[in-house]
Amino acid sequence: MPGLEDLYREIILDHHRNPRNRGELPPPAPHAVGHNPLCGDEIEVFLQVTDGPEGLTVSDIKVGGQGCSISQSSASMMSQAIKGKPVAEVQALVRRFKGMMSIPDEHGNDIEPDPSVKLGDLEALQGVVKYPVRIKCAILGWNTLLEALEQA
Ligand code: ZN
Repeated sequence: MPGLEDLYREIILDHHRNPRNRGELPPPAPHAVGHNPLCGDEIEVFLQVTDGPEGLTVSDIKVGGQGCSISQSSASMMSQAIKGKPVAEVQALVRRFKGMMSIPDEHGNDIEPDPSVKLGDLEALQGVVKYPVRIKCAILGWNTLLEALEQA
């Protein structure tokens, strides 16, 4: 597959080999499981949401599951990016990430990038957008995160 090497940048491989925040949180931690049947990916997200000085905050996150390197690295990078962040900031980051993946908002409109929301390492996943079938892999952890947040 030509061009695939673009996907597998070092940062993605690193997160695949050494996934961050791997594990589980005991009940009643908000928890969701997401599946991407097209690729066989599964992601499990456990959250700890507490009331902090900036409002509700994702004070801890654990990620489980299995699947391709894109799905697992994206979830690992996500967990690193959102841990300790206020829920409002987390939601803004999800929106920014979806925009990078060319996923429209809930009204079917393009998401304009908000320059105040920093993607950091997540930019390494930008190349995925060239491979539409892999976008579902990259976004799986993020959709699962939103489901878990709804339970918080
Ligand atoms: Zn996948």
